[in-house]
Amino acid sequence: MSRPIQVMKFGGTSVGDAARIRSAANIAAEASSLRSVVVVVSAMSGVTNTLIAAAGKSAAGDEAAAEALTTALKAKHREAIEALIPKGENRQRLLSEIDALIDRAANYCLGCALLGELSPRALDVIAGSGERLTARIAAAVLRDMGCHGVAFDATDLIVTDEVHGGARPIAAATREKTRAALVPLLEAGGIPVVTGYIAATAKGIPTTLGRGGSDFSATILGAALDAQEVIIWTDVNGVLTADPRIVPDAVTLDEVSYSEAGELAFFGAKVLHPMTLRPVVESGIPVWIRNSFEPHKAGTKITQTARPSPQCVKAVTATRDVALIAVAGPGIIGVPDIAARIFAATASVRANIVMISQSSSQDSICFVIQAGDAVRTEKALREALHEDVRHHDLDHVTVNRNVAVVAAVGENMAGTPGIAGRVFSTLGNEGINMIAIAQGSSEYNISFLVEATGMEKAVKALHRAFGLSQIDSDEEVDTGARVTTKIN
Ligand code: ADP
Ligand code: ASP
Ligand code: MG
Repeated sequence: MSRPIQVMKFGGTSVGDAARIRSAANIAAEASSLRSVVVVVSAMSGVTNTLIAAAGKSAAGDEAAAEALTTALKAKHREAIEALIPKGENRQRLLSEIDALIDRAANYCLGCALLGELSPRALDVIAGSGERLTARIAAAVLRDMGCHGVAFDATDLIVTDEVHGGARPIAAATREKTRAALVPLLEAGGIPVVTGYIAATAKGIPTTLGRGGSDFSATILGAALDAQEVIIWTDVNGVLTADPRIVPDAVTLDEVSYSEAGELAFFGAKVLHPMTLRPVVESGIPVWIRNSFEPHKAGTKITQTARPSPQCVKAVTATRDVALIAVAGPGIIGVPDIAARIFAATASVRANIVMISQSSSQDSICFVIQAGDAVRTEKALREALHEDVRHHDLDHVTVNRNVAVVAAVGENMAGTPGIAGRVFSTLGNEGINMIAIAQGSSEYNISFLVEATGMEKAVKALHRAFGLSQIDSDEEVDTGARVTTKIN
């Protein structure tokens, strides 16, 4: 490749209506004057939720759900297309293509209604339809602006394993397919517009990368193309010291490291899919988080070694999307292989473990998993431990969904004494009870479990206690000049 490649991903709100799609296309077109640009798009905001809800209702026997889906999605996408593409043959062709894709998703829903079931494989096909729509619309807008925009379905580019709903990429096969499909177009000055979120197995069966997975799509493609950088365009100014919906005076961080951003994403910062940084860590490709509503702002740069900050704790994050599982009883002490069996059972259903703790009396093992994994994990544990419960070695397996994980993250926390003490006393002063505590050996985070009702209070209190609103940020500065230097 002669020109450096920039992969840029636009999230749901950044392609949420006609005006946003136009603005995303402008950003891509402008960037393409200096470099090769690959665009990755999410579904329009709300569309993936609508698709998943329709699939669920259909599987529960609601045959009208498919029709309601068709009406809602056609209205939303037609409105955008009519505002974006002038009347004529191009608009007509695009409208028919979009209608056919929506009809296809609705037919899958109808199939679910008739069968009365929704397999993870069918759900992936339905849930991933939204991205196919936006990719075609955004490519058409780019063409209308005089650029050579071409839509691609990532089912033809990203090869994954067969884990529906949370598939993982196979790097070598992805690299081969992506380069074969995109490099000739890039060399000819074209702009590929690729669907985020979706992929396919080696056999071509569609998969998804998990909710919020378009961020991951962007870095998978960035790594496959040896991109110079990846930009995640979203609806906030970058990675903030906390979720601004919880802490309104949260501040944008200029730089964070891959490890810090990874920990934040893992512990619930929705701004990044938890797997986003995996594909780029080895090659060191920088990832930027920037605000598509305020493109003149520099955003946050995520690299291997972010500029050190005097602040020990850089950000506080939290998620309610977890469940606490406790396995308790005298057998926890007596049976030597109990921990191995518990975690073999969780592994067999691929449950994502967020935290593990064993009580000091040693008669219970508690761990926190993602809420979506709770039902199948509980079932697997009950099956695996059935005999022990029968013989009263174990008293019970319980699941508590009324919890939240809160984490304080920062690389400088490593080796700085007293951080845990400050965390605990802050929470104590607020009267917030910690149910379990964990600190990774990297010491880049301290995470703890609280009652769900105490989550927001805990985040606000820690943000205040560590003075995170005082972090010096370039955010308010008009960074037009910096941006130009940065992307050159
Ligand atoms: P997109 O649709 O662009 O992918 P998301 O909604 O998935 O956007 O992610 C952006 C949102 O992440 C923000 O609007 C914000 O509310 C939330 N968020 C949570 N924690 C953070 C954080 N630490 N920094 C920035 N945003 C955060
Ligand atoms: N549209 C998908 C979702 O809502 C993927 C994404 O937006 O990143 O989860
Ligand atoms: Mg997202």
